[in-house]
Amino acid sequence: MKIDFANLQHQYQLYKADIDANIQAVLNKSNYIMGEEIQQLEDELQNFTNTKHAITCSNGTDALLLAMMAMDIQPGDEIITTPFTFIATAETIALMHATPVFVDIDPVTYNIDPSKIEAVITDKTKAIMPVSLYGQPADMDEINAIAKKHNLKVIIDGAQCFGSTYKGQASSNCADIYTTSFFPAKPLGCYGDGGAVFTNNDDYAEKMKMMRVHGQNKRYHHKYIGMGGRLDTIQAAVLLAKLPHYAKEIEGRNRVAQAYTEQLSGTVTTPQVKADRTSVWAQYTVRVQNRGQLQEKLKEQGIPTAVHYPMPLHKQECFKYLGLKQGDFPVAEQAAQEVMSLPMNPFLTDEEITYIVNTLKSSI
Ligand SMILES: *Cc1c(COP(=O)(O)O)cnc(C)c1O
Repeated sequence: MKIDFANLQHQYQLYKADIDANIQAVLNKSNYIMGEEIQQLEDELQNFTNTKHAITCSNGTDALLLAMMAMDIQPGDEIITTPFTFIATAETIALMHATPVFVDIDPVTYNIDPSKIEAVITDKTKAIMPVSLYGQPADMDEINAIAKKHNLKVIIDGAQCFGSTYKGQASSNCADIYTTSFFPAKPLGCYGDGGAVFTNNDDYAEKMKMMRVHGQNKRYHHKYIGMGGRLDTIQAAVLLAKLPHYAKEIEGRNRVAQAYTEQLSGTVTTPQVKADRTSVWAQYTVRVQNRGQLQEKLKEQGIPTAVHYPMPLHKQECFKYLGLKQGDFPVAEQAAQEVMSLPMNPFLTDEEITYIVNTLKSSI
């Protein structure tokens, strides 16, 4: 058997008629930049999340920049985040000439440990940036309470969790600004680069809309230093065709995750989602001891795996200047040694899941 990790081809075949028609409509109109599909998609994203403003943009990395630009983050400001995430989270903080201040993670959820946040707050701290790793929201009540007490802003890097909920609310309603990515392999992906920012704050929304188009408030009149950060109309057209199926796909991802967990518990450390929130399972990630060998054996049997992420950010060469070292964030460091993501997409059949589980069990 040969397993596909994300199975984007199967997904395209399922929705092909709508996707092709939507792309063709853009070609027919040649409205490639800020075509009417952009506003339509933003309306649909607002409806889907019940968030007042959804603003699409070029990708999930630029979404983080737009959020920090809207908050007027200045050189030397400190932003508290997790070292166990994709590089973009802290890279964008550094691009703003601010300083990423890392806090270790919870060993069960892999998200930032809120009990360790207050110890690193200084008079330079401006914001907390939790990441919803693998699709599960962080402890937002605890994080928002700390932010309120110390007068800080909260930005959720929700690149992996669009569609997840926290205490019954869409994740995009749980911070000052929420950002996401529509990179093809994310739970809701387009066919190239794409992203969005969400907020219930009118001032942030207005500013991010300007920042996305070179800080302009009127054509060729620039109120702020902004960026070229728009989503392409063709990508909006793809997302408009896929969004109506997304709730069903999230159910499918949960079905796969539940089957994995039932069949794998006792063999490897399976992921856990807290009872007051839902995950969209951007990844189904287990912990194992002999990861390298296991990945090799699974690959031989047609089962692709991945490691999210093999090196925590405080150990990356680009962050050498922060002066951090091995041992500073032991929970993240151990996770980086042990985590392994299994194929995850809503189309995995029961037969494929059983094949993956049995092959994994016999390879340990
Ligand atoms: C994918 C990802 C991003 C970046 O999104 P792009 O659309 O690829 O720029 C940022 N943060 C996290 C946690 C991600 O997983």
